[in-house]
Amino acid sequence: MDITSLRGRIGRLEQIHSSTLIHEIERTNFSCARCGWCCCRNFDIRITENISRPSNAISIFPGDIRRIIKMTGRKWDEVAEPDKYSCFSNGDDVLVIGWILKRNDEDNCVFYKNGKCTIYSCRPLICRCYPFFMGEKGIEIMHCEGLWKKTLNENDLEIGRALKRYELKKLHSYIRIIEQVGDKLNIAALKSLPEKYSCDVLVFDGESVSKCKL
Ligand code: SF4
Ligand code: SF4
Repeated sequence: MDITSLRGRIGRLEQIHSSTLIHEIERTNFSCARCGWCCCRNFDIRITENISRPSNAISIFPGDIRRIIKMTGRKWDEVAEPDKYSCFSNGDDVLVIGWILKRNDEDNCVFYKNGKCTIYSCRPLICRCYPFFMGEKGIEIMHCEGLWKKTLNENDLEIGRALKRYELKKLHSYIRIIEQVGDKLNIAALKSLPEKYSCDVLVFDGESVSKCKL
């Protein structure tokens, strides 16, 4: 992953009209069943030899966090935590790439209560896209109870637009993080920290660098 290839992906994505994505989404007959499956830790995903992520380690942008804070009155560290599944060491420092939604003692999203999302109207962009993601070759579909079950006129248009917006934001954010971290960044050395690991970390999110305690 380098800035040139990321810019190439942004250029290709900008050429794709949202209607192409919408057509792909329509074909799945998706209608969210509000089952909460995607908000809970169901399994871990082995990304590389050194990175294993819980299924609900949900990466979010600083803008998502600010919007949730504005709507809920919560503090930053009540909404998000450093993405401890995407870290590397630099001398004595532990550097972290970005933020994930805060999870509770049961490892579920802190906003998932009594079987529903309590911040539905201001939920992160990635939650608005689920179960759809942009892969290298087009839309990829994750596990979801709401596929092939459409009963209502779900807003495929809104999801298609959100998907394109999310992917563009993500790629721009990667570029800003690479620029922020500079020569220290070693993608091959990225790793997950052990679950109960406690230390000070530096979080790079493409906007600022924050010192936090894990
Ligand atoms: S997006 Fe799918 S998995 Fe998530 S709550 Fe809706 S139906 Fe369940
Ligand atoms: S913010 Fe809402 S939709 Fe997103 S993971 Fe949390 S409870 Fe689920």
